[in-house]
Amino acid sequence: MFAVVYHGPGKLGLEKRTKPTIQAPTDALVRVTHTTICGTDLAILQGGVATVDNGRIIGHEGVGVVEAVGGSVTHFKPGDRVLISCITACGHCPQCRRGLPSNCASGGWILGNTIDGCQAEYVRVPYADNGLHPIPASVSDEVALMLSDIVPTGLEVGVMNGDVQFGDVVAIVGAGPVGLAALLAVQFFSPSQVIVVDIDEHRLALAQRLGATATINNRDGEARVRILALTNGRGVDTAIEAVGHPLTCKLVQEIIGVGGTIANIGVYSQSAELYKQSLWVKNITIRMGVVNTTTIPLLLQTIQGGKLDPSPLITHRLPFTDALRAYDIFANAAREQAVKIVLRMGEAQVDGERLLTEAALVDLIVDRVMARVVSRGCGRSPDRATTSHQREVTHDLDD
Ligand SMILES: [Zn+2]
Ligand SMILES: [Zn+2]
Repeated sequence: MFAVVYHGPGKLGLEKRTKPTIQAPTDALVRVTHTTICGTDLAILQGGVATVDNGRIIGHEGVGVVEAVGGSVTHFKPGDRVLISCITACGHCPQCRRGLPSNCASGGWILGNTIDGCQAEYVRVPYADNGLHPIPASVSDEVALMLSDIVPTGLEVGVMNGDVQFGDVVAIVGAGPVGLAALLAVQFFSPSQVIVVDIDEHRLALAQRLGATATINNRDGEARVRILALTNGRGVDTAIEAVGHPLTCKLVQEIIGVGGTIANIGVYSQSAELYKQSLWVKNITIRMGVVNTTTIPLLLQTIQGGKLDPSPLITHRLPFTDALRAYDIFANAAREQAVKIVLRMGEAQVDGERLLTEAALVDLIVDRVMARVVSRGCGRSPDRATTSHQREVTHDLDD
C-alpha cells in the first residue's frame, strides 16, 4: 500500500509500505477512503513534534471501510463504513474512566504520532470499539472526515471549555480549520456576538459566511482596540485562542472581560507569557487541553438533523497520489486559499512501485494494449491506428 511517511524535518515521502495487520484482539484494520492534513501534521513536518520517529506514517484524521477486526471487537464488522477518531482510548484506564480519553494510558493521540496513522491506504486502529464510529447513511465520507478531529476540537476544547452561554460575546483568534470549526460549533449556544480575528482575508470572508458577526484583520495589530470598541470596553465573555503563538496568547488575555473564560486550542511549540499582573483582578478562568472526541456521536446526530454542516470548511479535493502537493498547498494556505484538503483514495491503482492517477492508468492500459497489438504483427503504428486500437482495447479488457 502507499502512505505518507515522515523522514525528519522537511522530509516527507509518498511511499510503498507493507499493509498493516491485526496485532491485538481489540484492533480493526480499516481501508481508508478519505484522509486529510492537519496543522499538527505541518508541525510534525517542521520537526516540532519530538515523539514522531523517522519512518512514521503520519495522519490522524480519516474515514474508511472496516477490512478486518480482532476477536474481541464487538461493535464493528468487515464492510462497515466508519469514522476514525484522532484519539485512541482503551476505555478502562484511570484517565479513560475519568472521561479523559485524550490522556488514555495506552492511547490518546497516538495515530500518526507514536503508531502509524491514517495518511495511508490502510490503517490499524487500536481499541476499535472506542476509536471508530459508524457513519450514518445520510452523512458523506468527506463530511464525516471533519469529525475525526477539527469539529470536536472546536466544540470541546474551544466552545465547551470556553463555557459559552446563551447571549455571550465570543472572540475566536485564528480562523484556521479548528478556529472555523469552533465558529460553527459556537452557534449551538446562540452567542450575541462572535468576533473572528485572523490575518488572512480569505479565511475572514469564510468566517463571515459561517456566522461571524464581525471579522478583524489583525495585520495592523489593532485587534485589541477594535474588540474593546465592539464591546464598549468590557471585553469578551469567552476568548478562544486557535493559533498557538505568544502574540495571540497575549491578545486573548488583553480582550478577556471580567469573569470571562479563555479557552486555548492552539498547539504551542514555544512558551507563552501569562500576564497575571493584569489578569488576577478579573476573576477569569483559563482552560486548555487535547480533544477527547467524546462529542463525535452527538455531532453526527446534529449533522443528520441538519443543524450542522462542516462542508464549507473543505476547500480542496485531491487524489491521494497528490498528497505531497496537498502538503504544499496546505503549507501555503493563504496563497492557495486553503482550509481543509480532502485526499481521496480509490482513484489510483498500484503498478509495481508506481502509484498511478486515473489519467496515468488509462495511458498505461493503452501502452500495454498497443504493445500487444504491435507484437502480434498487425504492422500499424500506434498513433495512426485509432479505430483498430479502440477495438483491441475493448477486446483485450474483455479477456
Ligand atoms: Zn488533526
Ligand atoms: Zn485508557
